[in-house]
Amino acid sequence: PYVKGFEVVERPKVRFSDVGGLKEQIRELREAIELPLKNPELFKELGIEPPKGVLLYGPPGCGKTLLAKALAGETNATFIHVVGSELVHKFIGEGARIVREVFQLARRKAPAIIFIDEIDAIAAKRVDIGTSGEREVQRTLMQLLAEMDGFDPLDDVKVIAATNRIDILDPAILRPGRFDRLIYIPPPDEEGRYEILKIHTRRARLAPDVDLRYIAKITEGATGADIKAIVTEAGYFALRAGRREITMEDFLKAVEKVLKHRKRPYAEKK
Ligand code: ATP
Repeated sequence: PYVKGFEVVERPKVRFSDVGGLKEQIRELREAIELPLKNPELFKELGIEPPKGVLLYGPPGCGKTLLAKALAGETNATFIHVVGSELVHKFIGEGARIVREVFQLARRKAPAIIFIDEIDAIAAKRVDIGTSGEREVQRTLMQLLAEMDGFDPLDDVKVIAATNRIDILDPAILRPGRFDRLIYIPPPDEEGRYEILKIHTRRARLAPDVDLRYIAKITEGATGADIKAIVTEAGYFALRAGRREITMEDFLKAVEKVLKHRKRPYAEKK
């Protein structure tokens, strides 16, 4: 899907109901992106400008991509997925051109949400830009900033970027009119893990002894991606045992398997 350096999903089917936890983050995103896309007149009347770009930051696997996609799904927007590291490492010498194409495409397919994952790969603070590789990264970033500066905050193109390295970002990208709204996407707490478990077991056949609340309790430190892996692993334990439903024992083995390499408190807790 990334043949040209980006992937386009016309109308993602993902909804906010597919995202576990993150209620406050969803509220903020709706206000920053959905409201101006759907009701630009409210902003015109008040004479205020919505953000052009939002930066989601936080540890990997906790739902940044999922949230951005859900936002596009809820607003019937085209979702254009770009991966920062691919722009500069996979399509060498083409980063700036791809950025230009992505914005052109977004305008053509508006309303559109451009999602730039791993923005740190093109927007890290640099001490020197000596090598040609670094100059290429710099050119890609310059193109992105030029594109962002070139559109109106009330246009129906929005840009969401994501990183798990906010500490290394070049402050130039956080200036007003660029990615000036920052939203932290934390790892899920117990309630969040329970919601994510419920979402990922929606279509699973669970034995009556399965206690998702208990699984949420013992998986402290697990990310959303871990929870998804736990459900899949539990399914495989059931499959191998030739059972037609997933039991609590399958889940406990799956938790052990997925989280055993972590230094997490789950092992000691009862
Ligand atoms: P990365 O920094 O690695 O890109 P991310 O924060 O973008 O991570 P996602 O790619 O959105 O994480 O998450 C990976 C998968 O984990 C999702 O496709 C989803 O299946 C599951 N997942 C993660 N967080 C959640 C969540 N809050 N609710 C439901 N599922 C989740």
